Amino acid sequence: MNLILLGAPGAGKGTQAEIVCDKLGIPTISTGNALRAAIKDGTEMGLKAKEAVDAGRLVSDEIVVGIVKERLAQDDCKNGFILDGMPRTVAQAHALEDMGVNIDKVIDIEVSDEAIIARLSGRRVCSACGASYHTEYKPSSVEGVCDRCNGALIIRKDDEPATVLERLATYHEQTEPLVEFYRERGKLVVVEGQEKVEDTSALLLAALEA
Ligand code: ADP
Repeated sequence: MNLILLGAPGAGKGTQAEIVCDKLGIPTISTGNALRAAIKDGTEMGLKAKEAVDAGRLVSDEIVVGIVKERLAQDDCKNGFILDGMPRTVAQAHALEDMGVNIDKVIDIEVSDEAIIARLSGRRVCSACGASYHTEYKPSSVEGVCDRCNGALIIRKDDEPATVLERLATYHEQTEPLVEFYRERGKLVVVEGQEKVEDTSALLLAALEA
């Protein structure tokens, strides 16, 4: 199954992608994680992306389309994949169509701005594998340590309050139009984000089976 996870920053796309990935055995392609890895490694792409990511703005369509194109060409994507965080602009959605990528479903995880602001303040991510946690809603077993790989958990620079507001504004302006884009194509499934991770997963997995 070829899936796209859509939703505001902090709607829980990454967490749900991990769950769907484990359940269906298809890989997640997270442009956010790919960009953070490139920034950490100081690659040419990372240097180009750093300023926008840190400020909560989008990086260029060219960069993210390049990341996804390269990743989709790998063998493990043949039986399906989950796109987490891409497309984020109508131009990126057109680029996917132009690549001939067939999408089965687009899951839009809807969460209010107020809930997002509260959630992002407690978010922690693994500095090694990118897995995400929340101090209150999804704590790791050992504080500050990743359950998956024992990496150190950190606060993302773009989770600072001012940057969160910038990311939300960017979302409403540039990404939300994709809801209509995919509704028109008959691909859209709306899932109301719940307070508990597992409640959202249950709705999401049911939507995939429908
Ligand atoms: P979240 O969904 O929590 O905002 P991501 O990890 O998906 O976070 O993305 C973090 C940042 O990486 C974004 O704020 C943006 O700067 C950049 N980014 C990720 N995906 C894209 C994309 N498809 N297009 C443009 N920029 C992107």
